[in-house]
Order: sequence, then structure tokens, then C-alpha cells
Amino acid sequence: MKYNIIRDYIGVGNSRPGEPLGQVRFIVSHDTGNPGSTAYANRNYFENSDPLASAHTFIDDNTILEIIPLNERALHVRSNVPGDNSRYGADANNAAIGVELAYGPGINFEEAYKRYVWYHAYLVDKFNLDPSEDIIAHSTLDPARRTDPQNALNRYGISWSDFIRDVEQTFDRLFQGNEAIPEPVVKGTSVELPLDIGDQGPFVQEVQQSLIRVGFPLPIFGADGIYGEETKRAVMKFQRKYGLTVDGLVGPQTLDKLAEVKGATRPINDFPLPSGILRRGDQGTGVRQLQRALQRIGFDPQLIDGIYGPLTENAVRRFQSKYADLQNDGIYGPNTRRFIEMELSEL
Ligand SMILES: [Zn+2]
Repeated sequence: MKYNIIRDYIGVGNSRPGEPLGQVRFIVSHDTGNPGSTAYANRNYFENSDPLASAHTFIDDNTILEIIPLNERALHVRSNVPGDNSRYGADANNAAIGVELAYGPGINFEEAYKRYVWYHAYLVDKFNLDPSEDIIAHSTLDPARRTDPQNALNRYGISWSDFIRDVEQTFDRLFQGNEAIPEPVVKGTSVELPLDIGDQGPFVQEVQQSLIRVGFPLPIFGADGIYGEETKRAVMKFQRKYGLTVDGLVGPQTLDKLAEVKGATRPINDFPLPSGILRRGDQGTGVRQLQRALQRIGFDPQLIDGIYGPLTENAVRRFQSKYADLQNDGIYGPNTRRFIEMELSEL
């Protein structure tokens, strides 16, 4: 299996200083630490909030998204940790690619993990690295403050050494042509269900964050990682609304429904579309939003450059030709928008 890499860079600013990266000597593996947030949700955050932090690449269950060019610096490890200099003779931000795994409710872990493994193998090949030496966990570089990416991997039953072995095997199989090695097998989830009063931990917190996101707020305790009365009441309200057994326990059915409801709200958040009319010759943020959405629903405009050129026009035309109700004119307007939004909501 080979995956497509989307290169959709954020603007130069705090998150993307626009400074050259030296020779790539290693990879720092991260998770986003924000369960349920997708690759594009992360990109939107860095583009809009422009914090003094970033990473090159964000990966979820359908997208490998490079938001900073691999020959530029990203800010993904504190500069005063000693581990990178002692191991590699350089600060991570000057000599490493930072890769983030998105995980959590609404994200199919197996698909996201396969892409994460594949992308590490791709970098190993591209920069001529050694998987066993040159891939390092953020938690190893900054143990006082960070637990990633083991935080995400472990909850799905994957250890750091499992991950490195999967990268090695994928590299050998796909980049060295050794097809005899099997594809990595992803282990099942290790969380014990159902969740009930008294349970606590990161998975409880994920569920709480999902509840809040789909409209069941926890005004007193918030997403505190402890399954208490407030969380239980919110779960019961959720179950009632979606026709599930109202027992206040979070089992597979409630988790599935939560992921489904959250998934249904996701594309609209990740892929906002401009109002008004856009046509060939137009430029700007709205064109970029349109290009992203088209690419997501399989009408790839080739470039996400904010310029409504012949390729974008062609992608719009191809999309419009699917629907009898749309004029096949290559011009984006409210009608085309409605149909694009409908396809996004069905993903
Ligand atoms: Zn990290």
C-alpha cells in the first residue's frame, strides 16, 4: 500500500518561521495530544492561531498532510532539552522532521496508524535514515513534559518497539522491495468496556471531550478524565437522544454512535467553504478552501495554491457533471457549494 501525501503549507509566521532546516538526521514521533482532532483541524489551528509551535506533518485516518515544507524548520521540541544534542549532535528543530499522529474518537486508529507507519518509512527512505536509531519519541527527548506518541499508541495496544518494528518492516517491504514481509498487524484496543462511575484516565477524557463536542456539555467538571455523576448524566442524555439503551454506561454501541455523530460534524468543521461566487481568475483563501474540499471528495485540483486556474475549474466541472441539478459551467456558487457540503457530510 502506498499513500498520497498532501502538501498544503501554512503561511510563514510563528508556527512556520520560514528558516531552512539543516541536514535531516532524525525523525521525532509525536501524537497531537488532542483526541479526535484531525490532520486538517490541526492545520487550521496552526494557520489561524499561529502559535510558537508546530510540526511538519499531521496524519489521520485518511490524510497525510505536510503543513511545513520538509526543508524548513518546524518547532516541535523544546530547544533546551539535552537528549537531541547528546544523541544526534543537533537541536531537533534544526535537524529533525516532526510527525504527528491524530487519534481518538471519530478517527479510525488502524487506518491512521498504517499511514503513520508508512510515512515514517517514507522519511527513512527519503533521508537515508536507520529506523532503529534515527526515530525518536518526543517523550524520550522531553520526558519531564511529554508522553507522546506512546500516549496514543499504548491505548491501542502498541508499544514503542512494536511501532519501530512496523516501520522497519514497512520500509523493507515497500521501499527495499522485500514483499515477503507481511503488512503490520494492528492490535485491538486495550480499553475495558463499559465505562462506568469511578473509571478514569485518558480514554474517559476522550469520551468526555466527544460528548462536549457533540453538544452534551459538562459544565461543572469538564473533561477531567474522571467518570462521575455529571458525565453519567450526559451519557444518558446522549443515549436517549440517539435511541440507545439509557443505562449511563459507555459500551461499544455508545462509542460507535459517539464516533458517528462526531464524524458527521467533522467535515464541515475541517472544510469550511466560502460563500459567494468564485470563478477562473479568482484568488485567495476562499479558493484554497474550495480546492481542499474538492480534493477531499475525490475531485483533485492538483494544487492547493489559492488560484482558480484551469485545473481547479476542471475539477469543479467534473464535480458538477455528477449532478443533473448543477450547471456544468466550472463556476463555484451556492448550488455547487450545497452539493459539495453534502458529499463532505457523507464521508
Ligand atoms: Zn510531541
